[in-house]
Amino acid sequence: MDADTLRQYLEFYQDLGIKSLYRQSAPSPVPAEPQPPATASAAIVMDLPPLAPTGDTMLQIMQDIGDCRRCRLCEARSRIVFGVGNEQSPLVFVGEGPGADEDAQGIPFVGRAGQLLTQMIEGTAKKEGIELLRKDIYIANVVKCRPPENRTPEPDEMEICGQFLHRQLSVIRPKVICTLGGTAARALTGHKEGVTKMRGRWFKWQDIPVMVTYHPSYLLRAYNQEAKREAWEDLKKILHYVYD
Ligand code: SF4
Repeated sequence: MDADTLRQYLEFYQDLGIKSLYRQSAPSPVPAEPQPPATASAAIVMDLPPLAPTGDTMLQIMQDIGDCRRCRLCEARSRIVFGVGNEQSPLVFVGEGPGADEDAQGIPFVGRAGQLLTQMIEGTAKKEGIELLRKDIYIANVVKCRPPENRTPEPDEMEICGQFLHRQLSVIRPKVICTLGGTAARALTGHKEGVTKMRGRWFKWQDIPVMVTYHPSYLLRAYNQEAKREAWEDLKKILHYVYD
């Protein structure tokens, strides 16, 4: 296995929350005599490198992204959509990727779906007696460039760009992450179920609780009124968990 493949394996395990791996000693190429089975004492502990550089900051992440060309999504984008909001927020929302309005403005969730998200956050907080505006929380996406025709990002694009989201989340260390839609939920939790099965349930990203709910663009469709009610229920759970 070459160094690049090994690094990818280690990062994958790290994303699953595994901090160290055990490896058996390599056997001698030509054993002179029958070898005893490997024992625990023969195991070598390999500490994984930290996911984010020490002392990482949002500014550092932004500088590292630069004029990013690490995946094919750079080809059709107008702007990189980094993330927006309060970098000390105890609550972070994570969507799938920028749409046309976000690509034009460089800000996540500013189109119709974004307006609905704002209404949902501020409206639910107000009803529940919690003082909270959209600017108080942080919002980012799994991929930072708009996929052509708003297609779902490919796994390799999410893996490459996901490193920046992971670093953002590691810098913020929120109390709760809320994923919007199935793609973001699967990317952060590693679970493969559809969003209708996962919504309303708690998962974990590293040691941070993750609540899954619908993407607001799904809720904009007129026939999804029941889903809208469910999303409001999910938000209530999150807001009380974070702000009570
Ligand atoms: S989606 Fe992410 S990794 Fe791909 S080009 Fe844009 S910023 Fe870079």
